[in-house]
Amino acid sequence: MDEILGQVLRNAVWERLDVLTELANRADAPSLLTVARSELPRLTAGWRTLLAAHEPDSRGNCPECSSRRRPSKAPCSVWRAAYEHLVSGALAPRPARHLRPAHALRPAAQVP
Ligand SMILES: [Zn+2]
Repeated sequence: MDEILGQVLRNAVWERLDVLTELANRADAPSLLTVARSELPRLTAGWRTLLAAHEPDSRGNCPECSSRRRPSKAPCSVWRAAYEHLVSGALAPRPARHLRPAHALRPAAQVP
């Protein structure tokens, strides 16, 4: 891929992310539902494809992030980013109250 095509591709992806961010911030509820139904499956499919390419090999190295001279142990940066954004980030479902550590529970509001 030449440099210009690479730049066009990157710009298109950044623009798409900007559009989705703008929709998330400003669209009304019915529009958000439509966007979520169309975009969430695309985003999850994209993550699955990306993560499949970064599955560790039999030696525990990422085949995409490793070079011949420099193996990259799993989990690579792609898997770490996926965990950060999908599991520990806002998309992660909150564990049930009884499964949360005590320090994560908010103290009861004080009555004046
Ligand atoms: Zn990788």
